[in-house]
Amino acid sequence: MTERIAIYPGSFDPPTLGHLDLIQRAARMFDHLIVAVAVNDVKQALFSVEEREQMLREITATFPNVEVSSFEGLTVHFARERGAIALVRGLRVVSDFEFELSMALTNQKLDPGIDTVCLMPSEPYIFLSSRGVKEITRFGGDTAPFLPPEVSARLRKRLREKG
Ligand code: ADP
Repeated sequence: MTERIAIYPGSFDPPTLGHLDLIQRAARMFDHLIVAVAVNDVKQALFSVEEREQMLREITATFPNVEVSSFEGLTVHFARERGAIALVRGLRVVSDFEFELSMALTNQKLDPGIDTVCLMPSEPYIFLSSRGVKEITRFGGDTAPFLPPEVSARLRKRLREKG
């Protein structure tokens, strides 16, 4: 049987325990999972693509079937190039739904051979976002419940540097 490959695309600026929870569960569903940082010139990122890839590699090091990569352009083109059959996305709150539905339908039109699989986060991460953890860190809050320790330290450092 051919290997079932999925792509988990996102900004991951920075990766959170919510992302990691999704990675862990998607890695059980597919033979191979490619976590891919989307290079997006429009969204102003705090971390470079290389830094985000590095953090993702560190926090997924114990998952044998997870690979970290990055891509430019359309997600479905990258998925096709890598022989993937699915895109994994997270659905946290109702407000995610409209956006994810329109993206999934657009991607389906672009390439009907690639399906979108949406996973709900585990309960502690339902309101967690990269944007939220930046705010918590900026105001000196404890991010231990939301971020892998390697990421917490880097985020604190980066926000200090930025002033
Ligand atoms: P994007 O800019 O593509 O939304 P993100 O890094 O913010 O990139 O998110 C990537 C994917 O991970 C999205 O599908 C998002 O809904 C999902 N996601 C982010 N945070 C969580 C979380 N706490 N629980 C579940 N899914 C999440």
